[in-house]
Amino acid sequence: MRDKSKYTPMMQQYLTIKENYQDAFVFFRLGDFYELFFEDAQLASKELEIALTGREAGAEERVPMCGVPHHSAENYINRLIERGYKVAVCEQVEDPASAKGVVRREVVRLLTPGTVMNQTALNEKENNFILSVVSFEDAYAIAYSDLSTGENYAMRLQKEDQSLVGELISLGCKEIVIGSDVDVKIFDNLRALKQIVLSYEEERLIPIEYQILAEEVNDGYLTQAFGRLVNYLVRTQKSALGHLQPISLTKNEDYLSIDYNSRRNLELTETIRSKSRQGSLLWLLDKTKTAMGSRLLKQWIERPSINAQMINERLDVVESFMSDFMLKEELKRHLDEVYDLERLSGRIAFGNANARDLLQLNSSLNQIPHIKALLSQLPMPTIQQQLARMADCSHITDILEKAIVDNPPIGIKEGGIIKDGYHETLDEYRYIVTHGKEWILALEAAEREKTGIRSLKIKYNKVFGYYIEISKANLHLIPEDAGYERKQTLVNAERFITKELKEKENLILNAEEKSIQLEYELFSELRQLVKNEIPKIQQIAKVMAYFDVLQSFATISEENRYTRPQLNREHIIDIKDGRHPVVEKVLKDTQYVENDCVMPSDLSILLITGPNMSGKSTYMRQLALIAIMAQIGCYVPASVANVPIFDQIFTRIGAADDLVSGHSTFMVEMMETNYALEHATKDSLILLDEIGRGTATFDGMALAQSIIEYVHDKVGAKTLFSTHYHELTQLEEKCEHLENRHVRAEEHEGQLIFMHKVMEGPSDKSYGIHVAQIAKLPTSLISRAKQLLDALEQDKTAIQNSLETAVKVEAQPVQDLPVVKEPEVKLQPVLEAEQGQLSLFGVVESPKK
Ligand code: ADP
Repeated sequence: MRDKSKYTPMMQQYLTIKENYQDAFVFFRLGDFYELFFEDAQLASKELEIALTGREAGAEERVPMCGVPHHSAENYINRLIERGYKVAVCEQVEDPASAKGVVRREVVRLLTPGTVMNQTALNEKENNFILSVVSFEDAYAIAYSDLSTGENYAMRLQKEDQSLVGELISLGCKEIVIGSDVDVKIFDNLRALKQIVLSYEEERLIPIEYQILAEEVNDGYLTQAFGRLVNYLVRTQKSALGHLQPISLTKNEDYLSIDYNSRRNLELTETIRSKSRQGSLLWLLDKTKTAMGSRLLKQWIERPSINAQMINERLDVVESFMSDFMLKEELKRHLDEVYDLERLSGRIAFGNANARDLLQLNSSLNQIPHIKALLSQLPMPTIQQQLARMADCSHITDILEKAIVDNPPIGIKEGGIIKDGYHETLDEYRYIVTHGKEWILALEAAEREKTGIRSLKIKYNKVFGYYIEISKANLHLIPEDAGYERKQTLVNAERFITKELKEKENLILNAEEKSIQLEYELFSELRQLVKNEIPKIQQIAKVMAYFDVLQSFATISEENRYTRPQLNREHIIDIKDGRHPVVEKVLKDTQYVENDCVMPSDLSILLITGPNMSGKSTYMRQLALIAIMAQIGCYVPASVANVPIFDQIFTRIGAADDLVSGHSTFMVEMMETNYALEHATKDSLILLDEIGRGTATFDGMALAQSIIEYVHDKVGAKTLFSTHYHELTQLEEKCEHLENRHVRAEEHEGQLIFMHKVMEGPSDKSYGIHVAQIAKLPTSLISRAKQLLDALEQDKTAIQNSLETAVKVEAQPVQDLPVVKEPEVKLQPVLEAEQGQLSLFGVVESPKK
């Protein structure tokens, strides 16, 4: 704490304000600048690359200071928020001229990563969610909203820290609002990675004016989570949030659930390596024309449906779009004219929409009748129901059409917005402004005529305004009744005014000011008119987004020869000529090899062997992606596809670097596998890729086998299990719901050729050395490896024997396995088995002598 008393009154004011905004940069308005002081200044000068200066403020030492001009502050603020900081904007709230002592200042808005409304700071293709959580004994309740679009959601989550963090990451939340009931430690890793900022709010009672939004929610937990969120928003935004929409309940049981790691592994919305959208399923499927459509598509991909009727309705619409190419193209043309209605609504509600926004709104709403006329040609009930949700907005478009000029300025206080002919008084003002000068010239001519003085002039200056100037020599020519009133005498001339001249002057000088003022009022009226219709506009936005996503599906399905999937509840997978939708697009020189995946009801596990790089994991991912595409209502890359409606998808594929907890690769592998085994049902899909490779061979093989047996006997989920342990292929004999598959590779003159073709039966060997050869490891190293392999092959009989015995041993119940305590420190841990408990210590020991 600083001793305030030694500073000037203004600095004391600053310090008092800063006390309440410890976790934010305080932008302190001083005249035309926002200034930052002390630590804020030091950090901001680095982050923003602006000069750090100092200011005398009463104390001995100068106070560190940096500042930005207020007119370009937005840009700086955005940069700070993008980097995960908060900014409190502190304004002068009284006129400095009339202030006694220090001008009163207040924070007028707290800008945070989760609450930005600014267009340039937002990605139009993504929601910007802020999430609040309340922790109860048996569950987490979360509420999240996108302040820019007004969407609100709420759901319960299982009381596992991982599920909460997973949800946060999936939603891409940058800010989370918690209270003292929530353990902050859960977020430590995310905070360390600068992925999230924390905010606090204890109040959970929904303020009265927002209670209507939660009317449909019959869940005390969820209303408390929403209460926390709204209170925080109201407190920080200090503005009415009239565009907030009623809460949509998200029930996880209604969706195909895909845990966070699987979403990443399958690269649904971003790639693992570059974390970019490009290369993800979302990127491939996104041929939407509107930002709203793009955001809805992302939501669908993150939560595919398990509702057969809903899925089939979507597929019906896609099919009808595909059957009428012209209609679809025309729909796209109309959607092209549709702007981001949700964010426009947000800006209108917040009162920061300008005339360009209203024009965009107009263009968008103008498409409604066209879209209705077009789509009502398709007599399907789903389409008709959707169309019925789009209200008529001609009363808005008619008036906007008449009111706003084609190319309005960005600012709303400088005029130039309203069309001629819209408002009579405005027209009069404008007439006066443009014609005032002409009128003065006409008057000048008339006065010359009247007086006969050819050198008479009407001039203007700031002190007297307009006046008539006559040279001394001509003064005698002024008629008695001219009504000239002397104003000023110069050496050679006299200056006069007349009543008429002064009246006109008044009109001319005021007209400009008045017309600008009137334009602002008219614009505000228009904005208010639109504001009253926000719920309607939001509804329209939803319908447009729906059709936009489905036209995108139709477009992409046409381009890539996709097939309408059939969905079943009989655990049948019947995919002919399936392809991985993204890999087939990015392969450059080679043709994608199509593969079938046929698993009747009673076949639950495919055990897939084949050399590294042969295409095992691509094949596994392909199945998951086809299932997900089917369940969002899109056609799929295959010639025939009949797939079950899965309830959950679990994957353990690819590199296991772990964002959330910082565990070792093998640990993550085991945790993910455990998660799958614990949660999977007969209706789930499990993909396990090379389980056990992270540990010693026998360990790994034993684990792999027992996992397969467990899935086979206890879970019964559809499972693809790839392995390089060939020994496991004998399991086919023992497990009746398991079959072997292998990905074919051919040896040709010592070279390995990948055929990428999935065939029945096991593969013969692992070809690891061949792959090393392809990777161009040194020749001497390769021959040494071959030598060693030969030696090992001779021992193979021994291994074989031991495994055969193992296959015969009955699977032990899992509860009997030792419990693994998680390591506390990430180092090469020392393991100690003690009374069936395995403890991991973060100590690196040298080998015992
Ligand atoms: P594995 O899991 O067996 O090591 P991957 O599935 O990672 O192999 O596949 C290796 C590479 O082979 C992929 O990056 C892809 O380019 C190519 N590939 C995989 N499957 C196919 C296929 N069906 N057709 C063409 N290329 C494929």
